[in-house]
Amino acid sequence: MAVRPEIGDPLRPCPACPAWEFGGAPGCARCAGLVDALVEEAWQAYVAADFGSLSPAEHADVARMVVQEPHRHDWRVVDAALDLLPCDECGARLGSGPMSCGSCEVAHGFRYAAIETDRPGVPPGNEHAVRVNVSVVRRPQVTSAQELLARRLLLPALLVGHVPTTAQAQRFSAALKDAAARLGKSTPDRDPAALIRDPAIAALVAESDFPHLFGPADRT
Ligand SMILES: [Zn+2]
Ligand SMILES: [Zn+2]
Repeated sequence: MAVRPEIGDPLRPCPACPAWEFGGAPGCARCAGLVDALVEEAWQAYVAADFGSLSPAEHADVARMVVQEPHRHDWRVVDAALDLLPCDECGARLGSGPMSCGSCEVAHGFRYAAIETDRPGVPPGNEHAVRVNVSVVRRPQVTSAQELLARRLLLPALLVGHVPTTAQAQRFSAALKDAAARLGKSTPDRDPAALIRDPAIAALVAESDFPHLFGPADRT
């Protein structure tokens, strides 16, 4: 069964964390595995369709070829190809290393040349939102605690076909920034869930189109 939800699927609680499935990544290993599987299943389908059965070395050869031509491939295939190639400079998955790694920064930039195809029936831009949020969740070290929280919580809703309006996204983002400032600089880094418990954030979410953004349980 495909890992990726279909448009209109119900959100499913993650049995391993308080979030919806996918929304607990990267902290929840199960959710993080699901997010990784989103790109891995696209890779397996691409290889099976175009090359058949390949050895691990051949997978790496195909990955190098895909990374040379990101504009010719779906973003999930490009992200999966990067995962298969270790960075010569820092040793991480190519494009996933620290901001200080020049090779990873270049590879990360190139990944955005890849193709994004909205699924039939979604608001335009859904696929772009999915890929940006997946990218942030899989490279969390370069993102602020509040942005990572917003990205990961929204990912389950994006995967089933929702897209917040720009105004909704901006309001939420601004409220998170205010809450982070109120809590003090280090609190959200140590305990990102402190932002969820902030009364202003909780009120904003409760009144929005995504009242269950924080997950299946009532966590007040
Ligand atoms: Zn989880
Ligand atoms: Zn690197």
